[in-house]
Amino acid sequence: MDPQQALIIIKPDAVQRGLMGKILKRFEDVGLKIVAFKFEWADREKIIAHYPETDEWFGKVGQRTLKNYGAKGLEAKEMLGTDDPVAIGKMVKSWLIDYMSESPLLFAVVEGYETIHIVRKLCGDTNPMNALPGTIRGDFSHDNIDLANGRRRPLRNIIHGTDAVEEASKEINLWFRPEELHTYARADEEIMF
Ligand code: ATP
Ligand code: MG
Repeated sequence: MDPQQALIIIKPDAVQRGLMGKILKRFEDVGLKIVAFKFEWADREKIIAHYPETDEWFGKVGQRTLKNYGAKGLEAKEMLGTDDPVAIGKMVKSWLIDYMSESPLLFAVVEGYETIHIVRKLCGDTNPMNALPGTIRGDFSHDNIDLANGRRRPLRNIIHGTDAVEEASKEINLWFRPEELHTYARADEEIMF
């Protein structure tokens, strides 16, 4: 089995609240190796390129809102002017661009075995209201979809983590040059593997 890499981005709400160290610790504590690291303001074009432009992704994001509104008996058409999941997904993406431009972002690449699965597990559910205690989103945020969509903003959920193997190299190459990725041994590697 080969090691896998994943991108994490510490989002503006966490940067603004001084949570960067605590969050990075979660990844270091499970033994994932940080192989790249930077703190910088993101270009709007890069944020646009980071989040997919496909109807599949817009639809997934929009469905999250529709499912939540459905459960609460709210009408998406009334709340957002449309009940088309793709249109809602596009709206969320435009909000994401402003959110991710609020502060510098901390970017890191972490490496280990089954890294993407481990990163998603550590991050917890996208919707902080549903993220379990012990996860980064569950421990550091309590936002929810009604509140976020009602204020025309995305969920403020602390962290981004690569969510598919196919996405990992695209995301890493977008934010890091090859020479910014480092190779070294962690002291505990021999014990663990
Ligand atoms: P990320 O890609 O940031 O790790 P994720 O993979 O859990 O999060 P995505 O579906 O990729 O979730 O959505 C990207 C981001 O867009 C979410 O992290 C969240 O900030 C925001 N978001 C997604 N769906 C909604 C929604 N329906 N309403 C408001 N914000 C949303
Ligand atoms: Mg995602």
